[in-house]
This record gives sequence, C-alpha cells and structure tokens, in this order.
Amino acid sequence: MKSAAGALVWTRSQSAQPGGLDLHISGTHYFDPNASPTGGAIVLASAVTLPKSIGSLRLRSRDPRAAPHIHYNFFHDPNDLDRLVEAVRLSRKIGRTAPFSDLIDHEIAPGRPVDDGELRANIVAFVDAYLHPTSTVPMGADSDPTAVVDPWGKVRDVEALRVVDASILPDIPSVPTNVTTIMVAERIAEKLTAEHPSRNSNEVKRQHTLHTSKLETSVRVEA
Ligand SMILES: Cc1cc2nc3c(=O)[nH]c(=O)nc-3n(C[C@H](O)[C@H](O)[C@H](O)COP(=O)(O)OP(=O)(O)OC[C@H]3O[C@@H](n4cnc5c(N)ncnc54)[C@H](O)[C@@H]3O)c2cc1C
Repeated sequence: MKSAAGALVWTRSQSAQPGGLDLHISGTHYFDPNASPTGGAIVLASAVTLPKSIGSLRLRSRDPRAAPHIHYNFFHDPNDLDRLVEAVRLSRKIGRTAPFSDLIDHEIAPGRPVDDGELRANIVAFVDAYLHPTSTVPMGADSDPTAVVDPWGKVRDVEALRVVDASILPDIPSVPTNVTTIMVAERIAEKLTAEHPSRNSNEVKRQHTLHTSKLETSVRVEA
C-alpha cells in the first residue's frame, strides 16, 4: 500500500508543562502490508516528544570508527510511560472514530480490549527510539556546570575547538531535530564567517562540520 496522505496529531498529555506539546501521533507505513490479511496496514505511531528519562552515550575506545555504547534508559522516569499510555489510548480512539474508522477493516494490534497493565507491558516490550537524540555535550551559560560548550559551540577551557551538531542542543526539543540542528549550525557558521571574513563561508561551514564529530569524540573520552 502506498501512502496517499499524511497526518499528525501533536497534543498535550495530562501532565504536560504549560504550553508544552509532549505527545505526538503520526500515521506511518512502518509495517509490512503483507502481514495484514487485507494487504494494507497503517501504523499510528505514538510518541512522548519531551521525555524526562535521560540516557547516556559512552565511548568504548579512542578509535572513532568504534561504535559507542548508547543507553536510552527508556522509562527511567515513570511519567514517560504514563504519558505514552495516554498517547496509545488516544491513537486507538482515533482509529475507532469516523472518518478514520470507515477506512479500517480491523485493528491488528492489540486488536482486542486490553487492561492498563497489559497495555503498559506491551508498550515497554515494543518501544522504539524516534532517533532524535540530542544534548550529550549541551550548551549553556558560564555559570552552568553541566554546560560543555558555550552558546556558540565553543568547548569550554579548550582552545580552537567547537562542536556544532545536535549534541549541543541544551535540551531535547519537542520538534523533529533535523531542522533544529540545521538552524543552529547555520547560525554558528554565520558568526564564524563574520569573524573570518577572508575565508569562504562554505569552507568555514565544511571545516566545522567535518571537525565536529571527531573532536566531540575526544572530548567525550576525556570527560
Ligand atoms: C533513521 C533516522 C531517521 C530520522 N528522521 C528524521 C526526520 O524525519 N526528521 C527529523 O527532523 N530528524 C530525523 N532524524 C534525526 C536527524 O537526522 C538528526 O537529528 C540530525 O541529522 C542530527 O544532525 P547532526 O549534524 O547532529 O548529525 P548527523 O546528521 O548524524 O551528522 C554527523 C556527520 O558526521 C559524520 N561523521 C561521523 N563520524 C565522523 C568522523 N569520525 N569523521 C568525520 N565525519 C564523521 C557522519 O558521516 C555524518 O555525516 C532521523 C534520524 C535517523 C537516524
């Protein structure tokens, strides 16, 4: 089945901060339609976009080619699971409501009424990452002891070293991270270009892009 249209629900959980949009439900095709008896399937992917649980990233070696150890630490804060339960309940409600329900033959999973405990166990068993990790070397003010870089990506107490990528966002944003990262990078590149007017702006951007991952790696080893 080919996607004909897309839709997104972006809303607040019962425990959202004022103004915070912490739940996200999107219609996706991440399911093999052959696994459906009708030959078509829609996934309503439910997400907590502002998780409270904090994961970790640890380097295994100084070899930049060695994959790091990533610990997502899902549901360390129980409120994340409470909110994901809310999102899944809402997605099931959407699936049962017209005009959406007119398009649907039946719910594949769970496919039957489930109690709260079963729903929680199911979410924990099948949870996956949205692949929007950020903030391993967050930016912040001089007074912030957790800030690895300043607001321009400059690594504190290290000469001529900047990190310019998603890792410097001070907090995970509730929006998808790609555009946010591009915006931060463009802003910092603009400043560097202004500081080095003799250098071609694309050259500055390229050099800083290429440097960041490698240099970030050695910073993390030292940390
Ligand atoms: C499968 C997937 C789907 C996603 N979908 C979306 C989406 O739909 N919308 C959205 O907004 N975001 C999405 N994201 C997240 C988004 O891609 C990232 O937030 C964004 O790319 C982060 O930018 P970055 O510059 O920090 O890192 P990256 O884009 O990962 O850039 C890092 C770069 O460094 C290079 N590099 C790594 N190591 C070295 C080294 N040692 N030396 C030199 N170069 C090196 C890499 O090759 C890469 O080009 C998705 C992510 C994934 C993985």
